[in-house]
Amino acid sequence: MTTELPSIPAGTPEAGLYIVATPIGNLGDMTLRAIAVLRAAGVVACEDTRVTGKLLKHFGIKARLQRLDDHAPPEVRARVIETARHEVVALVSDAGTPVISDPGYRLVREARAAGVTVTSVPGACAAISALAMAGLPSDRFLFAGFLPVKDKARSDTLAALAGVEATLVFYETAPRLEKSLRAIADLWPIREVAVARELTKLHEECRTGTAAALADHYSAHPPKGEIVLVVGPPAADETPEADPDALLRAALADAGPGKAAGQVAKATGLDRGTLYARALELKGE
Ligand code: SAM
Repeated sequence: MTTELPSIPAGTPEAGLYIVATPIGNLGDMTLRAIAVLRAAGVVACEDTRVTGKLLKHFGIKARLQRLDDHAPPEVRARVIETARHEVVALVSDAGTPVISDPGYRLVREARAAGVTVTSVPGACAAISALAMAGLPSDRFLFAGFLPVKDKARSDTLAALAGVEATLVFYETAPRLEKSLRAIADLWPIREVAVARELTKLHEECRTGTAAALADHYSAHPPKGEIVLVVGPPAADETPEADPDALLRAALADAGPGKAAGQVAKATGLDRGTLYARALELKGE
């Protein structure tokens, strides 16, 4: 039995600004509606004309490309918005959903303020794919973009998120993954973490565990490619009233007594020396 593939929607979409998601690695994730809108577009506003040019060529689409990132002068955005009053204007980024850790927020805001119709053509988004694959609670999540590069700023950013009762989603780069995992391990030794790498591509993987265990893994196997880091919500026993024995036992799974005591002291504010003595006892049990 053969199944007929759905066809690309016919007819010309109405004038306006269309926020068009494109694949994050697998061209099969291009949607039919994205193709229809890009075909109809008078202008395609994009981050990098070479990247978008290649994508459009793959789908046999010819369009006028306009480079438009968040540093574009206001006149360029104003011109694009004027065009969107009487033509289809598509906004794309290099990959995934525009505006999500990608340029476009100003254009969308100004288009709305100008009374131009703004429409979304949804599709791939690495954060959402990673969240869906991680096996962590997804009823409440907070997307926090990229963590800062500098150690102190990264730890401060994480500490500021400590009380958020939701799964946390970060974009990450391969060279910085281990450092971020170590910072997460210091703060939240027992939270579940997922590293989603190369989503939709040949070497896709989603690895879960404590941050310390994942850091050890990626220290031994340096990662390549694109990465989303997903951190589970605060565990019930992570609060200051937590059972220190349970925290120490969890930390001792990945670390020696000294390190485990340090991690739990940091997470709970309890005395490190007392925790160390208890960690030695637990280790000997
Ligand atoms: N707007 C895009 C989206 O909707 O996913 C995100 C753009 S942001 C500049 C790029 C980051 O997204 C990468 O550094 C990585 O953290 C994440 N990312 C993009 N594609 C990915 C993929 N195929 N697998 C894992 N992470 C990916």
